[in-house]
Amino acid sequence: MVNMRLLGLVIAIPVLAVIFALLERRYAAVKPKTIFRRERLIDFGFWFVTPLLTNTLTSVLIFAAVMLMPGRGSTWFTRQPAPLQLIETLVAADLLGYFGHRLFHRAGLLWRIHAVHHSSEDLDWLSATRLHPLNEAGMRLFQVVPLYLLGFRGGALASVAPLLTAWAVIIHANLNWDLGPLRYVIASPLFHRWHHTSEEEGLDRNFAGLFPWIDAMFGTLYMPRGRQPERFGLAAVVR
Ligand SMILES: [Zn+2]
Repeated sequence: MVNMRLLGLVIAIPVLAVIFALLERRYAAVKPKTIFRRERLIDFGFWFVTPLLTNTLTSVLIFAAVMLMPGRGSTWFTRQPAPLQLIETLVAADLLGYFGHRLFHRAGLLWRIHAVHHSSEDLDWLSATRLHPLNEAGMRLFQVVPLYLLGFRGGALASVAPLLTAWAVIIHANLNWDLGPLRYVIASPLFHRWHHTSEEEGLDRNFAGLFPWIDAMFGTLYMPRGRQPERFGLAAVVR
């Protein structure tokens, strides 16, 4: 299993590098830097740590949590059509993810764990996997446990999991996309890159992973028109 994932990464990383290099030539949000640099090397390392180690740990913990929870039969959720299940799961999971993400931004141990993800100073597609293992495992448990207890089940989600992973990579990319008429509906690189900025105006904004309107509902949306964040990392972030 791990060998297959490793093989997949060895193929995927060069392919993605070419695709994003081509996209950045046309749509770069900030001027691309040289290819070989320390920041990129750290991010590159996480492309092996997160899929191979962190995701394995997360899967084991989620499996154990589900096994410990009651209820294996059909629920109100499983009796619905699959497309409806998918929409409900995405919205409920992103709502929980929004509040989990806000918790990770509070000063103290949770922020120190989450700060690993915010430490990328040259934010681009490679930065998407720079995650502390406890950040990823903690966030997924924070979403899965309540959803499972409420009757949600994961079958419908499995069908779009690769798409969600790809989207998580795209929203970190150095691209100036705001998705036009969908800018407040679906998270874009512009939306998420403001979340990563170290500039005062964007701190503690745009917590949602998929739906910016959740941030709008709770007063944390920040997407000024025609502007891009330019500085990233932890240099100016004090908690
Ligand atoms: Zn964050």
